[in-house]
Amino acid sequence: MPGVEAVASILFVIGTNGFATLIPMLIEHSTAATLTVDLGAIVQNWRLLGAQAGSSHPSAAVCAAVVKADAYGLGVAEVGPALYEAGCRDFFVALVAEGAQLRTLIPRDATVYVLHGPQPGAEIDCAQHALIPVLNSPDQLQRWSSLANTRGEHLPAALQVDTGMRRLGFEARDFEALDGDSFTLATLGGIKPVLLMSHLVSAEDPANPINRIQLEQFEIARKRWPGLRCSLANSSGIFLGRGWHFDLLRPGAALYGVAPVTNKPNPMRPVIRLQAPIIQIREIAPGDGVGYNHTWCAGRPTRIATLSVGYADGYLRSLSNRATVRFMGQPAPLIGRVSMDTVTIDVTELPENAMIPGAQFDLIDSVHDINQVAIDAGTNAYEILTSLGPRYRRRYLAP
Ligand SMILES: *Cc1c(COP(=O)(O)O)cnc(C)c1O
Repeated sequence: MPGVEAVASILFVIGTNGFATLIPMLIEHSTAATLTVDLGAIVQNWRLLGAQAGSSHPSAAVCAAVVKADAYGLGVAEVGPALYEAGCRDFFVALVAEGAQLRTLIPRDATVYVLHGPQPGAEIDCAQHALIPVLNSPDQLQRWSSLANTRGEHLPAALQVDTGMRRLGFEARDFEALDGDSFTLATLGGIKPVLLMSHLVSAEDPANPINRIQLEQFEIARKRWPGLRCSLANSSGIFLGRGWHFDLLRPGAALYGVAPVTNKPNPMRPVIRLQAPIIQIREIAPGDGVGYNHTWCAGRPTRIATLSVGYADGYLRSLSNRATVRFMGQPAPLIGRVSMDTVTIDVTELPENAMIPGAQFDLIDSVHDINQVAIDAGTNAYEILTSLGPRYRRRYLAP
């Protein structure tokens, strides 16, 4: 087996630092960076979010899971079944195609909502896969209704009302025209509303008055639909309090470790670990520039490690000269520009004998998690997650 020497030397170095259990995943013959996704942590986050609704309370909200965009980049093929196994039965995706994919991954008794509703022409696909469209406009409602008429059957749908996002959903005045009392199967051609929902603008900021304004708007819409199940809270909305919970919680980001409340300790478990190996080491002299455009220049004799990860992997270019990575817990700064396939690290302060090709650095871990990397990159953790590229060797830790 090639590369055994490298295994042995890294084993020794790491063994003295108590990270012995990490050894099997540290050594790879490929230079690809490794993304480890802890499905157990996702399941625990889902349970923690559900518990916010008060598990002993008889009318407590049920917790759904938003798995759009390939489960925020982490892999719906693994995340979907793990959440289903844990007991989740309500899933949200953005697109009909995502819903059709999810249908092949989890048993039929799960409910799958499509947030964008059907595009013109996609209604049949939507019904074929037993997906429940979120109807956002009179036009979408009309098209879903005409499919129901054609088929002579009742098709379920969720209705979204816009309470302030101004993005998707019925406007209040369109909604008034759809008064629940007159919303009969006869007049609307067989649509069976099963959920009323809206989406919050700034839920991660509990002090923002928009949260209460949206709640009031939602309450007004709700009065028109007595008895209909309701859903308002995304991840952050769950932490605004029970008043925002209604019947169905719709967390996405927090499942994957994103901090739901700004400037508060993060109650979610970290889910991902991103590691990249050294490809090459070099020593440079004071005055030597590093990387494209020499945006970093050595002020002292410096040892540089080049790692195999770059912006093509979603390790954002805005992290240039700003990120910190870790070798066995010891921090080292990223210097110079992030390239497409590589980054350069100042490893002068790290143990020289450990700096060999194949040695793995942590770029995202539980110490320096997606929320911190998002701050370094000047973006939010959602973008860090959904940018994670297809080139990683992906490892899934079973629940
Ligand atoms: C993406 C999305 C969610 C999930 O939001 P998070 O902030 O990721 O929890 C919920 N509802 C709607 C309508 C969405 O588009």
